[in-house]
Amino acid sequence: MSDERTAGAGRVTLVGGGPGDVGLLTVAARDALATAHVVLYDRLSPHANLRELSPAATLINVGKLPGNHPVSQTGIEDLIVSHALAGAHVVRLKGGDPYVFGRGSEEVLACHANGIPVSVLSGVTSALAVPAAAGIPLTHRGLSHSFTVISGHAPLAVNELQALCLLGGTIVVLMGVGTLPTLTQGLIRHGMTPAMPVAIIENGFSQNQRTTIATLATVLTEAALTKVSSPAVLVIGQVVTLAYSADASAEELMVRASRLTDLVPAAGIGVRGAE
Ligand code: SAH
Repeated sequence: MSDERTAGAGRVTLVGGGPGDVGLLTVAARDALATAHVVLYDRLSPHANLRELSPAATLINVGKLPGNHPVSQTGIEDLIVSHALAGAHVVRLKGGDPYVFGRGSEEVLACHANGIPVSVLSGVTSALAVPAAAGIPLTHRGLSHSFTVISGHAPLAVNELQALCLLGGTIVVLMGVGTLPTLTQGLIRHGMTPAMPVAIIENGFSQNQRTTIATLATVLTEAALTKVSSPAVLVIGQVVTLAYSADASAEELMVRASRLTDLVPAAGIGVRGAE
């Protein structure tokens, strides 16, 4: 692709950049970045070596901090549209997958409204990859055959809590640190055992990745003790008993959690570190 921008020839590629590790960028994501004229990137996207990946592009940080939005969603959409209308190939680089709590569809609609060609490249979502980085699978034969990914941005309604308790599978919560108290109390109130294992994985794929393991009953105390903060992925379910970590403190917490919960793992599945 040439560097020439021709009015009317602009286009937009929404790129899911994965949970922060450059190694989890897809080949398609790298190709899109390599041909971008403008890259608009988020705080949780893999932007450490963006200059190498997009050597000729104008790089614009639209990153949002919790409670502090440097560029509003409308502002981001205006930037995407104006650069594309000026003829640029605009790459909108997002953390994880653009269609998992990423507001990607709003940006696609903004492109459609302005007649701009837009494509979406799926990325590795933190909902799956961050638990995996802590050794936690979302499904495991005999332990869980479904998983539900929910946003903790706002407290859940009663019928949602009831449904989650009835479903019995793994629950994955994004943006859930702030609403952890209402979620854990709500699940217990609607029938989930207080002994249900919970993992909180902060800063996945970074130097500061940390796993806290507890139960529904103990997680608030543990989270306060370890001063858990965002970004973090919460996992609630029996699959948490499969967690491992190179971090010794996580192993210790695991042993503690297994004692507290009196867990009876499914046949053939041990609680690591508890033997
Ligand atoms: N589209 C993204 C999610 C955006 S919502 C995706 O598919 O991953 C932002 C939330 O994602 C954060 O609050 C946190 O819950 C989670 N998250 C994203 N990256 C993370 C990381 N590296 N470590 C832990 N949590 C992460």
